[in-house]
Amino acid sequence: MPHDPRQSQQPPVLVVGAGPVGLTAALALRSHGLPVTLLEAEPKDRVRPGSRALFVHRESLNVLGHIRPGLDRTLVDNGVIWPTRRTVYRDKEVFARTYPAGAQQTAGNPPFTSLRQVETERHLLAACVEAEVDIRWGAAVSEVESSQDGVRVHTEDGAVHVSDYVIGADGARSRVRRSQDITMQGERSEAFHVVVDVEEDPADPLPLERVFVYEHPGLGGRSVMRVPFAGGFQLDLQCKDDDRPEDWADEAQAARWVAEVVGEKYAKRLLWVSRYHFLHVVAETFTDPAHRVLLVGEASHLFPPFGARGMNSGIADSAAAADAIAKARKDPAGRREAIGEFAAERKEAAVFNNDAARTALAHLRPRSRITRFKQSVGAAISPVVPSCGEWLERAPYGPRHGAATNTKGRY
Ligand SMILES: Cc1cc2nc3c(=O)[nH]c(=O)nc-3n(C[C@H](O)[C@H](O)[C@H](O)COP(=O)(O)OP(=O)(O)OC[C@H]3O[C@@H](n4cnc5c(N)ncnc54)[C@H](O)[C@@H]3O)c2cc1C
Repeated sequence: MPHDPRQSQQPPVLVVGAGPVGLTAALALRSHGLPVTLLEAEPKDRVRPGSRALFVHRESLNVLGHIRPGLDRTLVDNGVIWPTRRTVYRDKEVFARTYPAGAQQTAGNPPFTSLRQVETERHLLAACVEAEVDIRWGAAVSEVESSQDGVRVHTEDGAVHVSDYVIGADGARSRVRRSQDITMQGERSEAFHVVVDVEEDPADPLPLERVFVYEHPGLGGRSVMRVPFAGGFQLDLQCKDDDRPEDWADEAQAARWVAEVVGEKYAKRLLWVSRYHFLHVVAETFTDPAHRVLLVGEASHLFPPFGARGMNSGIADSAAAADAIAKARKDPAGRREAIGEFAAERKEAAVFNNDAARTALAHLRPRSRITRFKQSVGAAISPVVPSCGEWLERAPYGPRHGAATNTKGRY
């Protein structure tokens, strides 16, 4: 780690929240040689639920490998890469592609790795400990005061932490964001999807493939996706607008539909069942008027999970926030510009990701008869027009790249 004597006279940069995004922010700051104090509300031995963000994109692996050499490899070695992608329309396969073994690992990082978010967090945390991040567990932030001179961060135990910058990575209900009166703009839908983690049967596992089924005939035409992770898989069921949560998200009901999708033996292998509403919200701004508070991850944006944009874009936010703070500390005269650039760039990326997730959702939960009609025609002609099968395969995840997200090759 480069030693910059000027930095030792400066207080640690504060990061609030030890989720995947806050841990990444802490590592990114350390990669610039900056001291860091990470404040986390929960205790050290907390158990976080469910698989949640499974999919770590290559761009995120590259960022993590850059800020902590070897961390990318650790995630790849502990995750799985499914060689097969398959799409089924009702009971007819419309797309299938299998990559030969090793084809995805020729140079640099593979296109992705898939592991439970709790595992990703475990590796990030171990890297933070190695990188000498000062982690304060049980330190719930209650208030952040910001001025041209810096920030004062209050925790519920009465302590006050003083620094020149704070990164707010404290998730969807961010106290840091609310203490700056920064509002989220967008909408929340009453419609929901159900996410279930299922333990694999090691004696007789399902093939290692990601499968999307449009209008599953055994589920009254609801669409469902299966995504493998090391030791199991996640099932994501799209419910209809007038579905009642108790009919689909209750554990006994989930066991019933899981058996329908993957077979009876899996009904007894549920690890976690959860229901999510669709949120499309982005913070009005990613920094405060004094440019001392930087918002990242779910503190600044919430999208539906299709396309795996949540954690991945949070990782990019964190790297950009750390770059901006390092730049601002080196050149105090240009600090407003550095922080302002971070805020503008990452808001633009969030708006792009939000729109992309909305496009995916419009395809997954088509409101118009025309979209449904296009999908059924696409499925019917896919054997002779393979590009239609390809379209049905790709559309549930939304557009992948765009200028707004990738000005620096980041999500
Ligand atoms: C079903 C599902 C599937 C998903 N799949 C994907 C996927 O495949 N890929 C992807 O990229 N994303 C995915 N996501 C999104 C991903 O889970 C989130 O984007 C990610 O957890 C956000 O990380 P975060 O660090 O911003 O927030 P969080 O994980 O919520 O972490 C916030 C942290 O801040 C702490 N905290 C909160 N308040 C305070 C306070 N006042 N003081 C101190 N600490 C505080 C919390 O305890 C927590 O540790 C998925 C989400 C869901 C629900």
